[in-house]
Amino acid sequence: MPTFEYAPAPESRSVVDLQSSYGLFINGEFVDSRGGTPFKTISPATEEVLAEVCEASAEDVDRAVAAARAAFGSWSSLSGADRGKYLFRIARIMQERAREFAVLESLDNGKPIKESRDVDVPIAAAHFFYHAGWADKLAYASLGQNPRPHGVVGQVIPWNFPLLMLAWKIAPALATGNTVVLKPAETTPLTALLFAQVCQQADLPPGVVNIITGAGPTGQALIAHQDVDKVAFTGSTAVGKAIARTIAGTRKKATLELGGKAANIVFDDAPVDQAVEGIVNGIFFNQGHVCCAGSRLLVQESIAQEVEDKLKARLATLRVGDPLDKNTDIGAINSAEQLERINTLVKVGEDEGATRWSPECELPANGFWFRPTVFTGVSQTHRIAQEEIFGPVLSVLTFRTPGEAVSKANNTPYGLSAGIWTEKGSRILWMADQLKAGVVWANTFNKFDPTSPFGGYKESGYGREGGRHGLSAYVTTGAAT
Ligand code: NAP
Ligand code: MG
Repeated sequence: MPTFEYAPAPESRSVVDLQSSYGLFINGEFVDSRGGTPFKTISPATEEVLAEVCEASAEDVDRAVAAARAAFGSWSSLSGADRGKYLFRIARIMQERAREFAVLESLDNGKPIKESRDVDVPIAAAHFFYHAGWADKLAYASLGQNPRPHGVVGQVIPWNFPLLMLAWKIAPALATGNTVVLKPAETTPLTALLFAQVCQQADLPPGVVNIITGAGPTGQALIAHQDVDKVAFTGSTAVGKAIARTIAGTRKKATLELGGKAANIVFDDAPVDQAVEGIVNGIFFNQGHVCCAGSRLLVQESIAQEVEDKLKARLATLRVGDPLDKNTDIGAINSAEQLERINTLVKVGEDEGATRWSPECELPANGFWFRPTVFTGVSQTHRIAQEEIFGPVLSVLTFRTPGEAVSKANNTPYGLSAGIWTEKGSRILWMADQLKAGVVWANTFNKFDPTSPFGGYKESGYGREGGRHGLSAYVTTGAAT
């Protein structure tokens, strides 16, 4: 038990200037929707209404795509160095306004301020810096002969890392000379709208970036729009498959970044205390709303009890509550709908016979919350070992040999990421080679860097984001047609 209580350490909200309602960002200006229905975005920690935004109609999608098309000619014919200057400017403004972005992200999404402040916002800015550096070097990046942009890119992103996913999408698109229409998730539109203000502040030419808010149907209209040349989507496998069906047979290029069910594999020679920190970071970072979360712990049988005991002791120290408090470790679940999904799968886990455990902790009266949860006695056929829960819920399985660890790790429809904890370098390399996962971390977890490509195998999608591989998705090569 802690020997002292933490005093409240709330970050001030005053740095954020919330408007009561927002329009759509089309052709460099905030405009009213034509025929779209307004909806409210709330703070999932308190259920307080933050602002009203508009669900963009098919006509709005049309206007945004037309603005992006009109801007494409001059944007793509700017020199790479000049495009790079805009990206550098955007990156610097994001850094200058980092606190504003972090507070707004935590308000709208529910994630702890220490994560939005130390992870989401700095890495988002880093993506703009990184891609700014590529803008004038595309011809030397081994992307192929004569790399050039596709044209208008339609981008749809999820609610778990709203600003960071925006950066992953917009920075490479602009660096390569494409123009963009982006739809943020319904529950987290506010940092994308603040980013639209940053585009204005950076004097980005009108139409290069357009942000349209809305829900599924707006995303669908954007993806299906006939003047969109490339689609970039991050979200669930179910919607990814629907998108693949929609664009099949068209000339549209696509990258799909979908779900995951990562194995975090701990061998008996691992430094156990460090591994426990990695397990906690792997599944409880961002309330477990992470596509590459280490949601399945595979622990070698001989140390399983020791790891379980240490993990439970560590989880008892986690602080769940106000996302704006600087001492909070676990914030709010993003929506009532997501909380319902987590509750449903956790109930299935209990019904299937796994043993559920959570530390004692008080949850706030309002808002959407879920205690950090560990399931032991999980077998491979359990749904909690196969399906993405997308919440702070860890399923623990055991193994005896490296070969068994590999087959269990690979035994899901997904293949986004994995973690390996061992002191043997040779074992790390052997395991990494066997694992069907786009990203493999060794003796660490959930590390992200703009230089490193990220993406999946199997039902985790196709294409890569970040690094040179990510750039290649935004260019076409070979002789011009
Ligand atoms: P989602 O339901 O698939 O939504 C993702 C985005 O697509 C949202 O903007 C959503 O709008 C929109 N959308 C919904 N239906 C659509 C349709 N038919 N056509 C076009 N767009 C549509 O996913 P989510 O529940 O928000 O996000 C969680 C999922 O994202 C998880 O499965 C997670 O693993 C995955 N994810 C993957 C990565 C990665 O890089 N691989 C990263 C982060 C998250 P609404 O907001 O209105 O629903
Ligand atoms: Mg919200």
